[in-house]
Formats: sequence, structure tokens, C-alpha cells
Amino acid sequence: GGEFVEGRGTSFKTISPATEEVLAEVAEADAADVDAAVKAARRAYDKVWSRMPGRERAKYLYRIARIIQERGRELAVLESLDNGKPIKESRDVDVPTVAAHFFYYAGWADKLEYAGRGADPQPLGVAGQVIPWNFPLLMLAWKIAPALACGNTVVLKPAETTPLTALLFAEICQQADLPPGVVNIVTGAGATGQALVGHPDVDKVAFTGSTEVGKAIARAVAGTSKKVTLELGGKAANIVFDDAPIDQAVEGIVDGIFFNQGHVCCAGSRLLVQESISEELLDRLKRRMSTLRMGDPLDKNTDIGAINSGEQLKRIRELSDLGDAEGAERWEVACDLPTKGYWFPPTLFTGVSQAHRIAREEIFGPVLSVLTFRTPAEAVEKANNTPYGLSAGVWTDKGSRILSVAHQLRAGVVWANTFNKFDPTSPFGGFKESGYGREGGRHGLEAYLK
Ligand code: NAP
Ligand code: MG
Repeated sequence: GGEFVEGRGTSFKTISPATEEVLAEVAEADAADVDAAVKAARRAYDKVWSRMPGRERAKYLYRIARIIQERGRELAVLESLDNGKPIKESRDVDVPTVAAHFFYYAGWADKLEYAGRGADPQPLGVAGQVIPWNFPLLMLAWKIAPALACGNTVVLKPAETTPLTALLFAEICQQADLPPGVVNIVTGAGATGQALVGHPDVDKVAFTGSTEVGKAIARAVAGTSKKVTLELGGKAANIVFDDAPIDQAVEGIVDGIFFNQGHVCCAGSRLLVQESISEELLDRLKRRMSTLRMGDPLDKNTDIGAINSGEQLKRIRELSDLGDAEGAERWEVACDLPTKGYWFPPTLFTGVSQAHRIAREEIFGPVLSVLTFRTPAEAVEKANNTPYGLSAGVWTDKGSRILSVAHQLRAGVVWANTFNKFDPTSPFGGFKESGYGREGGRHGLEAYLK
């Protein structure tokens, strides 16, 4: 089912951030294109999808999940080409988690009376979904799988710099014989996203991206009947106590901030380390960082790939330079950067105070800000001293301390002796300026049901 149509407006190129090579030219959907997609979604909602029994919708979702597994290599290569992330991450983390998400929500499609929304919960209608470039396919899965399971149809806009796997997903929907109009992908940049969330016939808006754009969207839909979920930025504290298993903690710190080049909203970008072990921990951390392999995203030995865009690289450089200017001390892995493409070496700053901008603002790159603390109370206070509240990590040998600290942290997800673990059964979302609403798990259904 479904078809690819030419855009009415202009087009733009998408490149490989590792080589700056042009990968494809993609249509920039204008307001008329968005309108056509919303109309297609409305028709499919009224005539087919909202009327279909859940057990039938489930069959399509299971089919999509299986095709994602079958075409996993292709999806992983395309994701790494367009995004710059290492193939071992797209192959071993992103794509399997995407398939898991579809399998998980397929299981819910005929069990919605247990979703906690009453005996006969109803879908909302047409969902307008806007996603960022850091996990293009995974964010698509987080948006589309629960929406479809609940009986909604969708129009999704991928990020300007990473549209390709969303288009391949559209092909997968065709392969799965999904009825036309149930899933619509419109490529474009900010204006396309704006046209989508502002469209009067969209019933539900789901957004992941920057807090700034999230606030603009909240303003744009205020006073309408649209339901909204926003998943925004973060500045997570990764707290290491003196009794923590140090080598495991070092691995968790590295995973927390250097996974996906630090382009992770829940990245552990503030390391809070207990003063008594800070010297030893930092020594070991620097040694470990020196073994990270940066380079070709398609090489399966690569740990750190390319920064997603020139624009993002500029932002990372500016904030890091501010770190120098404000008096923090920069240490970076010594390595030769490729001459083409966008690269930034794994970096840490010590001597960071809470007032520094590198301790407050989301850098969204491979840059760790290190702060120290003396007591658990001080750790909690510093961890919570942020406008964000998406995630946090706690490293300690003491179970009681994990529970008491986690309880006091104002963050949507708290990992204990691990970091950046994702599972479709677990809800994910923020406190404060990290946004509202939950994605994943049973909670994730609430955003798509009335
Ligand atoms: P962004 O501008 O918020 O982009 C997110 C998505 O929203 C993209 O698809 C974007 O389109 C679209 N968009 C932009 N303006 C819009 C508008 N007015 N109405 C509707 N949709 C709109 O984020 P970014 O520019 O890519 O990154 C900027 C910063 O945001 C990063 O440095 C990072 O700190 C943060 N960020 C956070 C996350 C997260 O997962 N929480 C993800 C990405 C970025 P285009 O980008 O295609 O133009
Ligand atoms: Mg943008």
C-alpha cells in the first residue's frame, strides 16, 4: 500500500557527515505537501485504521518488526551513512531496539483495555510527529509504534540532516502492505515541522528535539484541542560514589557521554565524582578515553563517529571554547582528525563549577564536564541544580544508597551501576524543561489514547 510522491516545493541534499559526500537529494515538503499528507492520514484513520480490530493492527506491526529485522543490515548502514554514528551502534543498538519497539507495541494493540485508560480507550486521530537527527530510526519507532498500536494514523517529519532511514521505513510499510495513508513521511526542515504541528486537522503532536523548539511548539498549540508530548534536552548527572566499582564506573561514564558522539538527550554529560576518588577515577578515565577509536562510521571497530552536521560541530566548539574562557581545564584525546567531515575528539573539562555554562547547557557532543562532591546530600543537590531532568546515573556498591539517592533525583530515568540502557517496556521522559509525557512502556500508550 501507499506511494511515493514528488514534493511540490524545493529540494535539499543530505550528506554523509563523515565525508561530506552527497548521499541523496530529498524533497522539502511545503505546506501543501503537509496538507496532502494530513488528508491522507485522516482518510486512512476514518475509513480503515481506527475501525480495524486491534488484533488486525497487531499483525501489521509484527510484520513491520520482522521486516526491520530482516533488513537490519541495510537499515544500519544507511543510518550510519546519513547520521555519522558508528556501525556497531546502529547495528547492535539502534536497529534491534527499533524492532523491539514494534514487537512490544504490536503486543499491546489488542490489549488496550489494560492500558489504564478505561474499558474501551479510543485513539486520538491523526498524529503529527517531529523527530531529531541523533537517533533517526529509533525516534521514528518511539513515535510510530505506539501511535499505530492505539489506532492513530501518523504524519512524521524526520530531521533535515537525517531523512534517509525514514524513507526506507516508508518502503518497509509498503512491503508490509500497510493500508495507504496510515504512515506518511514528509521530509523537510523546520518550516515543514512548523506546518505539520500547526495543521488544524492534526489531533496530537509528538516532538523530540531542543527545548527551544519544544517551547515554540507548546506556544503554537496552546489554546487548541491538540494533545502534546515533548521530549526535550537534558544535562544529566552521572554520580560516582567512593565505594563504586571503579572500572565499571569508568565504562559507564564513557558509555554515558561518548555513546553516539554525545548526541544523546539523556547523556551523562555532568560527571559528579566523590572528591576522595576523583584523582584516581580521572586517571583511569583518561587512560580509557585514549583507547577509543574515532573514524569511519562504517568500520566495525570504530567507537566514535562523526559529528552529525557542521552546525552542530560549531555549537560544540563554541560551548567548549566558553569552558576555556570561564576557567575550566580542557583535556582531550590526542588524535589526528580526518580532514573531511565533522569531527570532535572525546573531551573532558575539570575544575568546572556549577555556574559555568558547560555545566548548565546541553552541549550535545562528546564533552564531559567534571564536578566533585563530598557528601551524598551535596551530590543530590548538585545533580538537581539544572533546569533539566531527563536522566541520571548512580554508581555505588550500596543498594540502600542507590534507592535513597534515586528517590531524591528529579529525573525521569535513573540508572544504577549502568547507563544509557533502553528497553521498550520502560517509560522514558522528563521533569522540568526536559519536557512532558512519557514514551515507552504502558505509559507510552497514554499519549495516544483518550
Ligand atoms: P531542533 O531544531 O529542535 O530539531 C528537532 C526537530 O524539530 C527537527 O526535525 C527540526 O527540523 C524540527 N523543527 C525545527 N524547528 C521547528 C519548528 N519551529 N516547528 C516544528 N518543528 C521544528 O534541534 P536541532 O536544531 O537539530 O538541535 C539543536 C539542539 O537541540 C542540539 O544542540 C541539542 O542540544 C538539542 N537536541 C536535543 C535532542 C533530544 O533528543 N532531546 C535532539 C536533537 C537536538 P530540522 O532540524 O530538520 O530543521
Ligand atoms: Mg534544526
